[in-house]
Amino acid sequence: MDTADCARLIRNGDRRALARAITLVESARPDHRAQALALLGALREPRREALRIGLSGTPGVGKSTFIETFGLMLTGQGLKVAVLAVDPSSARSGGSILGDKTRMERLSRDPRAFIRPSPSQSQLGGVARRTREAVALCEAAGFDVVLIETVGVGQSETVVAELSDLFLLLLAPAGGDELQGVKRGIMEMADLILVNKADGDLKPAALRTVADYAGALQLLRRRPQDPPGFPKALPVSALADDGLDAAWEAMQTLVAWRKEHGHWDRTRAAQARHWFEEEVRQGLLAALSREPQKGLMASLGDRVAEGALTPEVAAAEMLRLLGR
Ligand code: GDP
Repeated sequence: MDTADCARLIRNGDRRALARAITLVESARPDHRAQALALLGALREPRREALRIGLSGTPGVGKSTFIETFGLMLTGQGLKVAVLAVDPSSARSGGSILGDKTRMERLSRDPRAFIRPSPSQSQLGGVARRTREAVALCEAAGFDVVLIETVGVGQSETVVAELSDLFLLLLAPAGGDELQGVKRGIMEMADLILVNKADGDLKPAALRTVADYAGALQLLRRRPQDPPGFPKALPVSALADDGLDAAWEAMQTLVAWRKEHGHWDRTRAAQARHWFEEEVRQGLLAALSREPQKGLMASLGDRVAEGALTPEVAAAEMLRLLGR
């Protein structure tokens, strides 16, 4: 199928065309890359924007339950919801987001929802690009909300935060009075901390955890992109469908405020710049693993190892050769 036909189908919300296009952007084959870039180019105008929500949390915290309940709430309001995952596959047993059939079973049958299993390759740079392009395809297909899920390990939160308009951190009620070892950097990325499982016996612990995090968030530096009261912590129960409406309301308040004060556009512009620079960096790294650069690296490396050149002089020479 040619690019124009494929673009038209995606714009009309054809899910098979969307799924095929995502497979195309996930491919590393040079001819697929060229087709993917042509397709993304064809879909740029007229521009459609979804609300991109990043969601992070350790395994077992309730991400899939949350996505299912929250997703169904949104589709119930008539919104179209896409779900993507950013995971180095090693981070999740079974590899794929749908490996476990029970994951988001009801949402996956909802005609207003589209769920994409996580790609199987695990290189973070590649995952970032593929997910970014998959998000762009979902936006072009007219989805209102794109949920981007990541398991809370390593650098994937940073990738997801750079792909999102809002970043949610899902936590479980703490057993003791410790703050669950959540890294400060991740807390600083979060727009909303949702303490899940605020139901039954776990409810008192969940409310205590919310209070702890609310206190901790107040100690963080106020960010220019936040209205008063944000970032905030809220209790939810994904299982009992409790508190998700309040969480959605908080998200909408944040979005409205950011749009009104110019932060929405500024953040998207800064993200576009970030991804441009990241692509160039990745491209340079890729070039180093190809000939003739690879051979030059090896031979300069040999001379450094022999003591014929210092590392600094050899590196300067390599960079000079790259810059030509
Ligand atoms: P994920 O690994 O983060 O995707 O977590 P899951 O959504 O698979 O949930 C892990 C376990 O926690 C499952 O047994 C869920 O039924 C349970 N769970 C998820 N949300 C809630 C909740 O709101 N309350 C309670 N009590 N259990 C929950």
